[in-house]
Amino acid sequence: MLKLYNTLTKQKEVFEPLNPGKVSMYVCGPTVYDFVHIGNIRSYLFSDTLRRYLAYLGFEVKMIKNITDVGHLTEDSQGQGDSGEDKITRKAQAEKKTPEEIARFFEKDFHQVEEKMNILPAQYFPRATAHIDQMIKIVEKLLEKGHAYKKNGNVFFDVTSFPDYGQLSGNTLENLKVGARVEEHPDKKNPWDFALWIKAPKEHILKWSSPWSIGYPGWHIECSAMSTEYLGSTIDIHTGGEDNIFPHHEAEIAQTQCYSGQKFVHYWLHARHLLMNGEKMSKSKGNLFTLPDIIKKGFSPMDLRMLFLSSHYRSPLDFSWEALEQAKKNLQKINDFVLELEIVAKQKKSGQDPNLENFGTEIEKALNDDLNTPLALSFLYSLISETHKLLSNNSLSSQSAQEILSFWQKINLVFGFILQGQAQIPKEIQQIAEDRQKARQQKDFQKSDQLRDLLEQKGFLIEDSGEGYKIRSKK
Ligand code: AMP
Ligand code: ZN
Repeated sequence: MLKLYNTLTKQKEVFEPLNPGKVSMYVCGPTVYDFVHIGNIRSYLFSDTLRRYLAYLGFEVKMIKNITDVGHLTEDSQGQGDSGEDKITRKAQAEKKTPEEIARFFEKDFHQVEEKMNILPAQYFPRATAHIDQMIKIVEKLLEKGHAYKKNGNVFFDVTSFPDYGQLSGNTLENLKVGARVEEHPDKKNPWDFALWIKAPKEHILKWSSPWSIGYPGWHIECSAMSTEYLGSTIDIHTGGEDNIFPHHEAEIAQTQCYSGQKFVHYWLHARHLLMNGEKMSKSKGNLFTLPDIIKKGFSPMDLRMLFLSSHYRSPLDFSWEALEQAKKNLQKINDFVLELEIVAKQKKSGQDPNLENFGTEIEKALNDDLNTPLALSFLYSLISETHKLLSNNSLSSQSAQEILSFWQKINLVFGFILQGQAQIPKEIQQIAEDRQKARQQKDFQKSDQLRDLLEQKGFLIEDSGEGYKIRSKK
């Protein structure tokens, strides 16, 4: 029974989808004005793990991840996130490019990063700029129903018209009033109202005509429009990083529920931030690393995947190279384990069987408890050490090795590691290794040493183990 921590109710709840066997899931995607950093990756990886586990449990998951290519303003942590300049426009001006060029360039970077991290692609990646009509339709209805008002070509959502405002973040109007006051927009009735449509100044590049002005949408409305368009009025799961809780997701709930008259999202899930020396890793602070930075230091995207899966998504994680080094070692341990099993599985040995069912149950129990990946991994490490005991005294049967491999392949659908398994070793390298093995069996050690050197020159190491061998890339 899967339990997930719902930010809305502040507790772990049994997951029950709206439609049996099916899950609708919306993920707040990237604002495409800069390279993806590893903090962003932590959030996307969490959503990927959730989606993978739901699929593992047999659900058919429909996942939408939006591309924000308009409306996300630079002052997104100030008040309601509707002051400042458009992030993409600002970058375009700095780089003397069009906003479209900037957006497409960084959107491509985002897809490449997701692919390298083995994050499964969403069924659809809708772009905000392609859904302006849907946003206008929602704003019109909100005006009609008295949840919004217009002033000087701007349209604002009236937060006092939605009594549940603040339910997700705790920022109810009462709490907001006692907190710091936001700078008041002259056209707002209440400083906590947020923009649905903003009249564009003349020099503004990204703008569209609307019934109210030539302008552009507020940041929050895009996710309501795209979620409704692709997944319907009510969805099962909505995810993002914890900074999305307020104002972004709070605003999404208010405007979508007032528009449709229905509950918007059943389960709200948020990943805690990746930190750098205790501070949120972010583009605006510049305290960040990208995936290429990680690779330049000799780590692979899978090492980073291991680092993130080794901590629970709701625990803050301070990035350190030492922790990444440890993650690399742990991944290598799994890699070696799988290679050894592949060797034994090919032979015809009889021997003992570890209790697989027990490990499988424990791993599932951990994942069922709000996706406790570190605990699940610890059970995998126990399986590895149990199996090693049998391997070291040569008593693991080939059939068991095959069963453990099948078990690993199934559970790795959730972990999503790409290992340097035998299958990933190029055919030419496998052939040289086979020739070397034959030379060894024929006691032609001169030839076998030459072939070992050749493998090294080509970037591969070979280790002899029992009756077989392991090849691995030197990188
Ligand atoms: P952005 O491109 O800034 O809109 O962010 C894309 C996603 O990354 C959002 O879901 C953010 O909540 C998330 N995010 C941004 N910074 C971090 C961080 N330091 N740690 C974890 N998630 C983050
Ligand atoms: Zn969003």
